[in-house]
Amino acid sequence: MWSFSRLGTFLSCKRQFKYRYIDKISYDEAYIEAFMGNIVHETLDRLYQELKIKELIPLEKLEALYDRLWHEKFVEYKEIKIVKEDRDYGDYYNIGLKCIENYYNENLESLKDPKFKFIYTETNFRTANILPKSSKMKVAFTGKVDRIDVYDDRIEIHDYKTSESPPTELDINTKFDYRQLPIYKKLLLLDYRFEGVKEIKVVWHFLRHRLKYEKIVKDEELEETVGIIEKIVKEENKEQEYIPTKSMLCNWCSYMKICPLFSNKELVDKNSHDPDIQEGPRLTRSYIELKKEEKEIKEKINDIKEKLVAYSEKFSGEPMYTIESEDKDQQVTIKHTIEKRIPSSGDPLRDDLEKRLKEKGVWDEFSMLSSRSINSKMNKENLSDEMQEFFDMYTEDEKVVEIRQSKVKKK
Ligand code: SF4
Repeated sequence: MWSFSRLGTFLSCKRQFKYRYIDKISYDEAYIEAFMGNIVHETLDRLYQELKIKELIPLEKLEALYDRLWHEKFVEYKEIKIVKEDRDYGDYYNIGLKCIENYYNENLESLKDPKFKFIYTETNFRTANILPKSSKMKVAFTGKVDRIDVYDDRIEIHDYKTSESPPTELDINTKFDYRQLPIYKKLLLLDYRFEGVKEIKVVWHFLRHRLKYEKIVKDEELEETVGIIEKIVKEENKEQEYIPTKSMLCNWCSYMKICPLFSNKELVDKNSHDPDIQEGPRLTRSYIELKKEEKEIKEKINDIKEKLVAYSEKFSGEPMYTIESEDKDQQVTIKHTIEKRIPSSGDPLRDDLEKRLKEKGVWDEFSMLSSRSINSKMNKENLSDEMQEFFDMYTEDEKVVEIRQSKVKKK
């Protein structure tokens, strides 16, 4: 089912569209601007519901309702994000409150003396196909209208905006964002309740700025918008890559944390209050501190190893010497051996050794050429005198000290 927000998302960032509408990824978080906008909408919705069934609510009561809704809804979210660092929740609360006051005072006259016959608030419309019958495709479409006022001679579709920057009249007439209300005319006309309506006027209320734009929807504009919708849906049907588009809107995009356009540094800097995102730098700091401790511990172990070897040499001339720990439970055994060390790779002697082993036809046996494998062969397999002499030519004797830890055997 298509909607205006679905169309708008596809136009602003295809990757965000994919995350939201195809992969259906959602997070339990909100942005303060959207949260404040929802509370303002709900408060104005209640104002008209009361007016419809009872009477006009005084401004003080409406403000108290706004306050109650704000606090009730605030705790429903795990997190409400603020992007603008110079603002806090209180600032947005006050902006929303001002929107309510502005609207109430601006429309007090019509609220006191309503001329409309009927009001619909927060009304959902849907159609199985918004395109004309002549089109080869069908597009199911849904929309939600903030308020519809029904008069004897016309219908008015009202939309409340709490956005920071108001549009110009040119924006209203040309930008796709403002095609939403005109398209609702089409949805309305498909609804039996509004059959036969001659004139439909759309009204935008920019509440922060006490601005109001009105216009009568012309059929040509409607057809043009339906044509744009058809084109966008066709494009989406063919879309494969859903390439991300970086813009100011990214600052208000929950998918920034999985979007390939953002490095971890950007993500962390832009989401200072998101505990999931801040966990990465915290883990990194712990890892670095532990690695530093590990290095210090290794140095201490090496120091103790040297002292144990010196101790064993001082009190025993034997190649193997065991020392029990103070707690009598564990012990260490210091083993002194002499091993053959083969030349390291890059040494010309090493190349010569490899060549000679191949000539002798025993390369396969020593292809994992290392001091360890040669010493193991010498110790276990009793190499022939000839091979022993051969390796003696290429290797040097090296003193090796090994320290093994074990449990003391109970007698
Ligand atoms: S962060 Fe920006 S580029 Fe990435 S998905 Fe969101 S809007 Fe698109």
